[in-house]
Amino acid sequence: MARVGVFIGQYHSDSRIVFDALASYAANLRAVEKVRLLGLRPKVDVKALADEIRRERLDRIVLAGDSPGYFKPAFTRAFELAGGDPSEVRLASFREHGAGLADATERAKAILACAVHGVPYPLVAVPRPTTVHPATLVIGGGVAGIQASLEIADAGKKVYLVERSGTIGGHMAMFDKTFPTLDCAACILTPKMVAVHDHEMIELLTNSEVTRVTGSPGAFKVQVLRRARRVDEASCVACNACTEICPISVWSEFDANLTHRKAIYIPFPQAVPSAYLVDPAACTWVQSGGTKCGACAKKCPKGCINLDEQDRSVEIEVGNIVLATGYEMLDAHRVEQYGYGKYPNVLTSIEFERMTNASGPTGGKIVTKTKELNRRLKVEEWVANPQGPPPRSVAIIHCVGSRDPKYNAYCSRVCCMYSLKFAHLVREKLPDAACYEFYIDMRAFGKGYEEFMERIKAEGAHVVRGRTAQVVEVDGQLVVKGEDIVQDRLVQHPADLVILAVGVVPAQGTVELAKALGVPRDADGFFSELNYNGDPTYTERGGIYVAGMCQAPKDIPDTVAQASAVGAGVLRSISTGHGMGNLDSLTLSEIEERAARSQAAER
Ligand code: SF4
Ligand code: SF4
Repeated sequence: MARVGVFIGQYHSDSRIVFDALASYAANLRAVEKVRLLGLRPKVDVKALADEIRRERLDRIVLAGDSPGYFKPAFTRAFELAGGDPSEVRLASFREHGAGLADATERAKAILACAVHGVPYPLVAVPRPTTVHPATLVIGGGVAGIQASLEIADAGKKVYLVERSGTIGGHMAMFDKTFPTLDCAACILTPKMVAVHDHEMIELLTNSEVTRVTGSPGAFKVQVLRRARRVDEASCVACNACTEICPISVWSEFDANLTHRKAIYIPFPQAVPSAYLVDPAACTWVQSGGTKCGACAKKCPKGCINLDEQDRSVEIEVGNIVLATGYEMLDAHRVEQYGYGKYPNVLTSIEFERMTNASGPTGGKIVTKTKELNRRLKVEEWVANPQGPPPRSVAIIHCVGSRDPKYNAYCSRVCCMYSLKFAHLVREKLPDAACYEFYIDMRAFGKGYEEFMERIKAEGAHVVRGRTAQVVEVDGQLVVKGEDIVQDRLVQHPADLVILAVGVVPAQGTVELAKALGVPRDADGFFSELNYNGDPTYTERGGIYVAGMCQAPKDIPDTVAQASAVGAGVLRSISTGHGMGNLDSLTLSEIEERAARSQAAER
């Protein structure tokens, strides 16, 4: 039997693992001769380690921790110096295999046991199979949910697609162009949206939310709250008569609060379903308990408005669940130094997306906001008016709230590229305007991205490398202050319009949904995949998959690819009739037993 040494060292300080308990557990494993806790970010003395390995006559080293790969080179060198076979330095990677969760220590023990036996944890910790109901629930109607639904439904399998808002399409429906091809986002997305609506195997439940999930993998019972739309979807012909008469205006979410919509509205003209809905929080009838207004119901030529319609709950049975709940933008008010909310011409990226969109509030014109009187409310508001003056200079600030431990330590992955796209749009629509990109690092990692960056630079955008300190107003002029590390100097540039490339965060309701489904979340708050490298579409919960931004920030091509992969996994389970149970249904002793058996089989 191999003589094994276990060395446990951490790279990050946020672990929930009880290391003393883990070390005692390791010491009691049959083959283990030596256990040493290395602490946080240990400095490894290679020569001393080699002496220790020789002294203990170790044949295998298990290097355990959240990210043990960081220390592997030093251990490999020491093992070689001691005359060992470097392939016998095995990693027990806690973070990769999900030992950051509630049962972290137990999971860490299982991962470590597999490494001691010399077998990969994912090959051993395979949950027991379950039978699978053939219907699938997809939660979230953005491009990820749409793609997964179509993949599954096109194979002839039933899909329930539940979307919280009044339309499918998600954020992508708000975009004008996609990077790096500058394709029209709507031209890609709209046919898919229509295909979902017309698909005989897809039941589309908009204005709805999942409230409870019971049952077990392969046989879930799901409660869906169907919020009252107050307009009959099938009868509405989208004639707009109700909206015209409705006296209540509120900020439009779809237009990122740059313009108004009515209390009865359609989110955007190509919305799917193509039917209006009532916002109960804004509607006078609903708020007055049915005593005031009601004008829209009288005006509707189809008689399809029922202002008294109530929410209701429906139950559906499914075998698999796909999480495709997307993301939100970080609240830019939090990054106070950039003056969002204080200066009207400091915009978020999503606001600029709507401004540059031909179907947006300015018809695609890039303008500075102007102050106008809201006659109904008798207050002055800053609005994006198509007649407003165009900016003479535009500043785009990267990494707002990303790669900064104060907000989000992670990179949001899409901001560099959408910022370059913005620079292109500014140069295209306002050739006389100066355009500055303030960036820390340019992360142009995808296919065609590097070339896109070079193209934008050639189009005349000024790229300034360095952190942006703040946005201030001097005599009515916005000024962006920062550093240029290439020129090694502090800089300040006047800008009429400042765009904040705001990072992404998990969508509202992620915490509640994770609790309801028992799906763990990672340190950044996104849903955790089962295995980052090997199983990036499964979760710990059998029958529950992740697609798109709700798993981690990613661009549209990666989102669509992941959603299609999820479709393949779901279809495999339906066509074979069985899927996977929950990972935590396996006990530690079962995993130890399986690992020992696998090791014996290998010999
Ligand atoms: Fe639909 Fe009636 Fe409104 Fe016309 S008036 S858009 S048919 S709800
Ligand atoms: Fe608008 Fe509500 Fe009045 Fe209809 S009843 S017109 S939605 S305020």
